[in-house]
Amino acid sequence: MSDVSRRGFIGSAAAAGLLAMNAAGDECFPFKNNVPDPLLAGKELPTFKFGLEKSTGRTMNGSFGKEATVEQLPISKGIAGVSMRLEPGVMRELHWHATAAEWAFVIEGRCRTTVVDPQGNSQTNDFDPGDIWYFPRGHGHVIQCLGKQPCHFILIFDNGYFSEFGTFSITDWLGHAPKELLAKNFGLPAATFDGFPQEEVYFARGPVPPDMPAPPLQGALKTPPETHRFRMLAQEPHSVYKGGREWRVGADRFPISQTMTGVLLELEPGGLRELHWHPTADEWQYILDGQVSVSMFGSHGRYRAETLDKGDVGYIPQGYGHSIENTGQKTARILIALNTGHYQAIDLSQWIAGNPKYLLAANFAKPESLFDKFPKGRVFIGPPSAPQQSERDIK
Ligand code: MN
Ligand code: MN
Repeated sequence: MSDVSRRGFIGSAAAAGLLAMNAAGDECFPFKNNVPDPLLAGKELPTFKFGLEKSTGRTMNGSFGKEATVEQLPISKGIAGVSMRLEPGVMRELHWHATAAEWAFVIEGRCRTTVVDPQGNSQTNDFDPGDIWYFPRGHGHVIQCLGKQPCHFILIFDNGYFSEFGTFSITDWLGHAPKELLAKNFGLPAATFDGFPQEEVYFARGPVPPDMPAPPLQGALKTPPETHRFRMLAQEPHSVYKGGREWRVGADRFPISQTMTGVLLELEPGGLRELHWHPTADEWQYILDGQVSVSMFGSHGRYRAETLDKGDVGYIPQGYGHSIENTGQKTARILIALNTGHYQAIDLSQWIAGNPKYLLAANFAKPESLFDKFPKGRVFIGPPSAPQQSERDIK
């Protein structure tokens, strides 16, 4: 779409109430919650849990991709996710995504990505555990396992209808275009393409890549202005409490990540990420370690709690109330992604603290004095037992 027709489309769609400006005010995106979602209109809230690591997905000699889309988890319309493991020497071949940007978190092992943008810039980055990447929608990329150990990472996409198995892969394209067309395209004899794969390879296997990235065919790298890599867990946590801590990275610190905010939440046993909601984003959760109870609230008295264990995925639609409590015996680690580059949340404690006592007393039919006992600010992460008060908040 040209810029003009794109604006025209957005203008008419916005007039129809289907699109909204994001927090930066410079980008438009579908504002799904303006249209009633039949799945969320029933008497009960639907399940928001899926056992991702228990699912089969697509495997090849130890490498795998397992996905959670609206197919596996119907509530997750705004965000899809994939657990991917690559054996040494294996790459997730050159591909792009027509309908989603890709955000990723490396759990274990090391990997390398090379991404090409529409300006012809190419960037190669190496990743360690705790690092994240972001590829804007449609940018061509590849992921290789580095070293002699497998690598495991979680991919998160800003579209729940996106399937990792419906990507635009280079072998699939070249395998289905006539050799004569390819010959003309590259100025090479048609025989050049003899023996090329005829179907999508998806996972390609080769030698373990060299330690230092080799320069691309076009010569020295034209490095893009905004890097695709951010070393999330190499930074200090965003906030630290007795009951847990949080790392959070959005477009403010990782400018290319315009449509996603990533969070790593650590909760001590009994620790609680308090009741809250996100005005502008859906939330996708993956349990890296431990066991948590996630609660969700919708209008009409609808309330649901589910237990999520290591390898499970949870999903909270935009605007729905929720909380996360560590119900296990050890530290729980939860990877969270929101489909906005500009994080917003309203926490229950802060909501209450932002109202006068006389009003709260009348609303709950209780004496004003009761509300003197409530927190005067945001709790965010509660310690294992009451009384709770945040000790530190390094925002
Ligand atoms: Mn991809
Ligand atoms: Mn949340």
